[in-house]
Amino acid sequence: MNNSTSSEQGNLPGPSTSTSSSHLLHGNEDGSTTDKPEEPSISFLSAMQLQVFKNFVNNYLTKGELLREDAIALQSMFGPTIIQVFEMIEEEQLVIHQSQTSKQIIIEVFGQTSSESYWIPAGHSICQCMHFVHGKSPFCKHVLAAHLYLAITPKEQFKVISDEQFMLLIRDLDDD
Ligand SMILES: [Zn+2]
Repeated sequence: MNNSTSSEQGNLPGPSTSTSSSHLLHGNEDGSTTDKPEEPSISFLSAMQLQVFKNFVNNYLTKGELLREDAIALQSMFGPTIIQVFEMIEEEQLVIHQSQTSKQIIIEVFGQTSSESYWIPAGHSICQCMHFVHGKSPFCKHVLAAHLYLAITPKEQFKVISDEQFMLLIRDLDDD
């Protein structure tokens, strides 16, 4: 119950909910459940992908624009998907929701139709889209967009939701 707002982005609720077998609360199933100490953990990216990701974020935050060299690096690392990712960000198809007191973050990514949204808990590669559910990639464009957007969006733009709302959102994801 302290007021620290930094470095809590990657945390999900502890196993206080009813289902202790929930995959959501236990990170990746390959055993890599350790959280990185300082950075928001983005464990589904490879070390090289993470480096390109961080370079982009640092340059974007200091210079206020996507540098050509970063665009090239991102595309070579993530493929043409990255173009769709930046379209989603430019068209503001994402909303960052943060719970009021527990400061947990979940990112909503609007789908193709107005009625559907995908929900990505910060720090996790979890999505409800068909590509993610049936694909072999460790993440989909929504997961990538969510974490890029989160990394470049000021906290003031986060939409505050109640802790109860957050828990309901997480619980709904877990039922899938
Ligand atoms: Zn997806």
